[in-house]
This record gives sequence, structure tokens and C-alpha cells, in this order.
Amino acid sequence: MTLDLRARVRDVPDFPKEGIVFKDVMPLIADPDYFSETIRRLAEWARPREPDLILGAEARGFIFGGALAYALGAGFIAARKPGKLPRETIEATFELEYGTDRLQVHRDAVQPGARVIVLDDVLATGGTAKAKLELVEQLGGVVAGVVFVIELTFLHGRDRLDGYDVHSLIQY
Ligand code: AMP
Repeated sequence: MTLDLRARVRDVPDFPKEGIVFKDVMPLIADPDYFSETIRRLAEWARPREPDLILGAEARGFIFGGALAYALGAGFIAARKPGKLPRETIEATFELEYGTDRLQVHRDAVQPGARVIVLDDVLATGGTAKAKLELVEQLGGVVAGVVFVIELTFLHGRDRLDGYDVHSLIQY
């Protein structure tokens, strides 16, 4: 039987602000069958791309990214909000609906030439993913792929990731 992952994604209208339909993946993570199937499908796509590292941002990116890295026998590296990482970092700035935000990684997180898969739970406008790609490339890493559990196709985030190998498990 193939699981429809959509059955464990909950729509939350007007969160975190009016007009946004938030895709809540917590039920997917909480269900053992659905969570393992999600990681299995992410790994199936990622494995042939032979990543050394998986990069994810807090907080949901840590959950999926850590599990995916383990499934592949790869390492995991964290992209974090400013001020969270203890050693020297580099950062990338990206646009949010109002204003900008920043993500940082440790300067020594990626060895030059390392193959990195960038992961997030949701591809919306693509700004966050773009920032993570910049971080990998600033450190001399090779982006081996960009993968999402959910893609909100109506926001055309994929257009901002033009030229990269992009995949999502479910689309809305
Ligand atoms: P993006 O617009 O692609 O930069 O998305 C920004 C971040 O917010 C991503 O890390 C997503 O996980 C999250 N996000 C954006 N829109 C949604 C949504 N409708 N539901 C859940 N998470 C979202």
C-alpha cells in the first residue's frame, strides 16, 4: 500500500498571520508509518546524488534533515538564526514577506568540494532555500540537490532555484 503523505499534513488557516494557510507537518512527523515513509522517499531521491552532507535549517529542517542524513549515512549540518552557533559563522540574508531574515552556518561546516543536499519541509517563495544554497557555495561546497517534503507550486519558488536539481514529495 502506498501512503498518501497529504493525509498527515494539516492546513491551519491564518497562521502565523491572516491570509496564510500554514502546512502543519507535525502529524506527519508524529505518525511512525508516515514519518518513516517520508524519510524513505527523501532518501530514495537523495541517495543517487551521493551527498556527503545534508543541510537543514531550524526547526523542522533539523527533524527531517537529521533523519535523512542518518538514513543515507551522510552528515548533517545546521543552518541557524543569527547568534545560535557558537563558533565563527558565515551568513546569508533573504527576504520575508515583510523585511529580511538571516541564516548562518559555521565557517568550517562544509569542506571544499563536499556534496551537499539542501532540505526543507516546505518550498514556498524559495527565498530561504536560495539563502542556504548561497551558504553552501560560499564555503566551496557542491549543491547535489534541493529537496522538500511539500511544494506550494502556486508561489513558484522553483523559479528562484533555476539551474539546481530540485525535488518535492508532495505538491499543492
Ligand atoms: P520560503 O518562502 O520558501 O522562503 O519559505 C520560508 C520558510 O517558511 C520555509 O522554511 C517554510 O518551511 C516556511 N513556510 C513558508 N510558507 C509556509 C506554509 N504555508 N506552511 C508551512 N511552512 C511555510
